[in-house]
Amino acid sequence: MPIEHVETLIVGGGQAGLALSHMLSQRGCQHLVLERGRIGERWRTERWDGLRFQFPNWSVQLPDFPFPHADPDAFATSAEIVDFLNAYADFIAAPIRCGVTVTALLRREGASGFVAETSNATIEAANVVVATGPYQRPIIPALLPEDASLFQVHASRYREPDQLPPGAVLIVGSGASGAQIAEELVRAGRHVYLSVGRHRRLPRRYRGRDLIWWLSALGLDQTPVENRGPDKSLPLITGAYGGHTIDFRRFATQGMTLLGRVEAAREGTLDLAPDLADSLAFGDAAYAAFLDRADAHVARHGLDMPEEPGARSVPPDPPCLVEPLRRLELHAAGIGAVIWATGYSCDFSWIDVPVLDASGEPVHRGGITDEPGLYFLGLQWLSKMNSSFLAGVGDDAARLADHIAGQKGGRGR
Ligand SMILES: Cc1cc2nc3c(=O)[nH]c(=O)nc-3n(C[C@H](O)[C@H](O)[C@H](O)COP(=O)(O)OP(=O)(O)OC[C@H]3O[C@@H](n4cnc5c(N)ncnc54)[C@H](O)[C@@H]3O)c2cc1C
Repeated sequence: MPIEHVETLIVGGGQAGLALSHMLSQRGCQHLVLERGRIGERWRTERWDGLRFQFPNWSVQLPDFPFPHADPDAFATSAEIVDFLNAYADFIAAPIRCGVTVTALLRREGASGFVAETSNATIEAANVVVATGPYQRPIIPALLPEDASLFQVHASRYREPDQLPPGAVLIVGSGASGAQIAEELVRAGRHVYLSVGRHRRLPRRYRGRDLIWWLSALGLDQTPVENRGPDKSLPLITGAYGGHTIDFRRFATQGMTLLGRVEAAREGTLDLAPDLADSLAFGDAAYAAFLDRADAHVARHGLDMPEEPGARSVPPDPPCLVEPLRRLELHAAGIGAVIWATGYSCDFSWIDVPVLDASGEPVHRGGITDEPGLYFLGLQWLSKMNSSFLAGVGDDAARLADHIAGQKGGRGR
């Protein structure tokens, strides 16, 4: 089979790959997008049915393409996000091939550029942009052995409450996925045990404005990666049920049992760390600091925004926080299912070019690697806080497209 040549190969047909495609087209740069599944595949197959986009409709947009909506303050379903991505691909006339997986990426021998082995052909490219997503390989800690009497699933494979066997549910991990699935299951009448770790919860709305408005007004969404600090976590928020502030104490009053982090497991019994109070205090401190910052902004700019003292009220500590469990016997607690909301790692094992560090993470500056022509896009904190957000990826895409266009002709192709 003859080898196909393209100027720029984009791997991944999610928001990042599509935004870059648009930016390259605008700059007259020839390119091809390869997507192993369908456009926006992860929104189709790796999200649960009840998930709502965490950003209000008014704030959802891709470059030159706002999200169509009837209610600016509502939160989109995953299906609506898929429709939006499909409509965007049509709008930008993206040169995309779906159902094609890039299985290996190598340097061209004796010439600049790259060779991509794919599931149906070999492609040579002067530039390659890896846009395969910030959440790639589900992490499941090796704590509980596979056991037919216990249903275990990662959050990326959880779909809906009825998928789970009857009984109580243990959710390990209190990031956005763990907290949101826990709330969904409590509302479905399940008893939920939620293992809570360190988190940065923020208000959904404050003084009449949504968090996303505040992040922009305070310039926080533009925080450069250099100023990120050691905490890599993104804000803990939800768009479900009309969007509200996540408050673990309130969850407990609705019937959820909060636990510390799972430290170890032996024969169906979990050892729990004595850190639940610390984790909640960390989340509360992040929340209060945000309100302080917002109040200071209002005062500094003399804004006419009603005060909201109720936002600072803290519900009383629930019994599970006053006397936290240190051990949990799954069988005795009636737990029939465990949901691992324990995050994701990257999987760049198919990249055979020396741009990965010892842990397999790409080494780059704002997505530009030391390997001329090889780029990454869409990763968490690629250049700034909103780099991996739908409405934030456009800036990085424009910057990389400028870099690619600027290099055009500088390398053989
Ligand atoms: C539960 C959950 C909720 C989220 N909610 C929000 C939210 O409300 N707002 C928000 O902005 N972000 C949210 N995110 C983050 C969101 O997933 C990302 O912002 C978004 O999907 C990233 O887009 P992307 O294009 O960078 O990557 P992806 O959407 O992951 O797209 C990458 C694409 O690459 C394809 N691919 C991977 N490997 C290959 C290969 N080797 N060859 C060919 N194709 C390949 C995949 O099939 C996929 O379609 C959420 C994430 C999760 C897990």
